[in-house]
Amino acid sequence: MTKKLTPMMRQYYEIKGRYPDCILFFRLGDFYEMFDDDAEKSAKILGITLTKRHETPMCGIPHHSSEGYLAKLTAAGEKVALCEQVSDPNLPGIVQRDVVRVVTPGTTFSETLLDEKSSSYTMAIYPKRDYFGLATMDVTTGSFFVTEVSGYAELTMELQRLQPREILIPDSNEDAHLMTLLNAFEDIYVYPYRALSDAYQSLTSHFKVNSLEAFGLEKWPFAVQAAGMVLSYMQETQKTELTHVKALSPYTGNDHMLLDEATLRNLELTQTIREGQKKGSLLGVLDHTQTAMGGRLLKHWLVRPLTKLESIQWRLDAVENLVNHAMFGETLREQISAVLDLERVMSRVSLDRGNPRDLVALRTSLEQIPNLKNTLGRAAADRLSELDERLQELPELVELLSQAIVDEPALNLKEGGFMRDGFHPELDELRALSREGKGFIKNMQQREIERTGINSLKVKYNRVFGYYIEISKSNLANVPENYTRKQTLVNAERFITPELKEYEEKVLSADDKSKALEYELFKELRARVMEDLRVIQANAETIAELDVLLSFAHAAARNRYRKPKISDRGPLHIDAGRHPVVETMNPAGDFVPNDITLGTDDQNIILLTGPNMSGKSTLLRQTALITLMAQVGSFVPATAAQVPLTDRIFTRVGASDNLVRGQSTFMVEMEETANILNNATDRSLIILDEIGRGTSTYDGVSLAWAILEHLHNVIGAKTLFATHYHELIAVAERLPRAQNFCVAVTEEKDGVVFLHKILKGGINKSYGIEVAKLAGLPNAVITQAEHILHDLEEGIVDAGIKAELTKGINPDQAGLFDTTALIEREHGKVTHPALERLKEIDPNRLTPLEALEALDKLKREV
Ligand code: ADP
Ligand code: MG
Repeated sequence: MTKKLTPMMRQYYEIKGRYPDCILFFRLGDFYEMFDDDAEKSAKILGITLTKRHETPMCGIPHHSSEGYLAKLTAAGEKVALCEQVSDPNLPGIVQRDVVRVVTPGTTFSETLLDEKSSSYTMAIYPKRDYFGLATMDVTTGSFFVTEVSGYAELTMELQRLQPREILIPDSNEDAHLMTLLNAFEDIYVYPYRALSDAYQSLTSHFKVNSLEAFGLEKWPFAVQAAGMVLSYMQETQKTELTHVKALSPYTGNDHMLLDEATLRNLELTQTIREGQKKGSLLGVLDHTQTAMGGRLLKHWLVRPLTKLESIQWRLDAVENLVNHAMFGETLREQISAVLDLERVMSRVSLDRGNPRDLVALRTSLEQIPNLKNTLGRAAADRLSELDERLQELPELVELLSQAIVDEPALNLKEGGFMRDGFHPELDELRALSREGKGFIKNMQQREIERTGINSLKVKYNRVFGYYIEISKSNLANVPENYTRKQTLVNAERFITPELKEYEEKVLSADDKSKALEYELFKELRARVMEDLRVIQANAETIAELDVLLSFAHAAARNRYRKPKISDRGPLHIDAGRHPVVETMNPAGDFVPNDITLGTDDQNIILLTGPNMSGKSTLLRQTALITLMAQVGSFVPATAAQVPLTDRIFTRVGASDNLVRGQSTFMVEMEETANILNNATDRSLIILDEIGRGTSTYDGVSLAWAILEHLHNVIGAKTLFATHYHELIAVAERLPRAQNFCVAVTEEKDGVVFLHKILKGGINKSYGIEVAKLAGLPNAVITQAEHILHDLEEGIVDAGIKAELTKGINPDQAGLFDTTALIEREHGKVTHPALERLKEIDPNRLTPLEALEALDKLKREV
């Protein structure tokens, strides 16, 4: 490029060269200007006009309304470098400029982009073959944690759980699989970033420690690498010291229940599968938090159930205390509702982006602490007393803030007016001077009217001329001599006098000085606040925890949940369990509760059969949800529950099509199943809903059969297995720790009635046609289907069709007509389970009552 550049453009290109991957917002007076590619890209995203000067594309946005534009660009995955004027523009020579901050999707503070009840994470991934160091920071709250995971599946799990907004990977990364995996997450932006040679040192120097042993990180080299990347990235984008990032916490998979991606999705913990909404998810039912911090913590807790008995018990006891003393809980709820988002307030203040309103928010929040402590003093549960002890009052700071800042300050720091009168003598003096001058000028109008006899004379103010006297054209003859003309309008002329200018000078300089002084005082206050940063952050954490416990208690009282009994091992017993979400959608009292036992000597696997819509899936999920809620520390929707510690919950729920990811449903299904079979232990809970439906019937049934046996004989995990394959009933019969259950239906004259109640024993009728009838299929189709079914059952069917059906190429029909079993029975391949059982019965050894029972059972099976 041989174009001759102006000094300013030379400065521009020099700075842009340092931020090649960012859109550079170049401050020119009241505007941010963008040039070249930046301009073209931004104009398109923002929908603003692109202009050209000397062949250079450019566009600009007003500085004072830049927030919205910034939000739009970062929401579109762009990084924006804010380049400001850093020297006084009134000095001679070119203004110095520099980048003061880089705004990225993960580090935005934009209120339009941040959800107050969700964290905003930036994560670095440091890969070493298929082992990964992960470091995650929420710069809006200062939380920073690391882990190491092995394998892509574990990595995916962490990504799914934390849902970072942006990810940094080393720019030297050559792992294509990793990139494909990351790119599959649509809402995550991935940026290459340089790996550091001195990650360890940069961390120790930030935290001012000699070694990372203090954080337990000596044996975590990859996590340290990743943490170094995040820290350095944040220092570069925030351009501050990040004083609010006080600790680096390592965590491992051992201290909480692992939930894989499919399970997070299927159980709809924080959002629904279909619409991705909170409403309709477990979080939607449990979230009664009063603060943003509590909201965020609850979300974390739900996807990280505990696996340590003691910690679970602590939470449960605290919740119990709050439930049993409703007034106590209510008082706390009310007090906590006045606490604002302390974490984000303190982060803004630390990053020098705080405003007077943040300090008011800080004060009003801290003011609640004595009240909270006062109430918590009556707590019976250990955990609540502990929270009480952890909460620290900061009376001096509160006092200072309330003396310093008015109750409802404006947002703008430079405009002044937020400090209280009486706080600082010099400020009071300047304000008095300004008031006096303004008073003098105000009275001047009356005096000049009297002096000149011009009734319409006005003393006014504008930004260009300052104060002036306005006189209408018709009165110009009476203008006194000491008036100097400044401006002529259509109907009036404007004048000044030496006296007016003298007072104006007094007012303006007093105003300027007081604004500058207020700004200085604000900075002093900010420094004072920072001294208590650690205590305030700790208070925020404590309040968040209290808020979540209160939320659990509130949900428990509202939905009649009961305290579960947690044990290290032993069976899972749920008495009259309900699905926490489905029950809230059914009219009151309509939900049918069910008992479940798993993990006893003869019942570790339940094979659940029953027609479509009878409630199989609901029962499966509610069992998983109750287990999970218990380990999160929440009460559960049951009249009683005994829950042994579960290391993992696995779910495989049919028909959730993952087509968006370009994989066939059956492939996904088998991958999910493989994950389960490879990772489940005898402490796991497995929910299998319809295995093998994505392939032909024979394939499917064979796989389901083999999986069932493997779970029973090898893994020994507590398993709920819902299936359409009635063939499996006979398989389960033979397995000593498996039991058949079915969901009851009754046939009335105008169709089936779903009772949603589970009973012992298998059910080998699908009632597919009845369900189709309920779903509103045309009568003609229903009638025809009934004919066909009848013919099939009687064996009256065309040989060609029969052959096809036997191959089972149309798996979707398996559920509706269940022809395979029928036809096979015809051919005598599989005997009916009832016949099998009948063969086993020896009438000579039965009591009359047992005989009656057996007969009843057989009857239900045919
Ligand atoms: P399946 O998996 O057997 O096809 P679902 O579990 O999907 O059946 O349940 C179908 C519908 O039946 C649910 O949407 C729900 O409205 C209702 N339902 C399920 N279980 C119950 C229950 N225990 N009590 C009341 N209604 C229920
Ligand atoms: Mg189902």
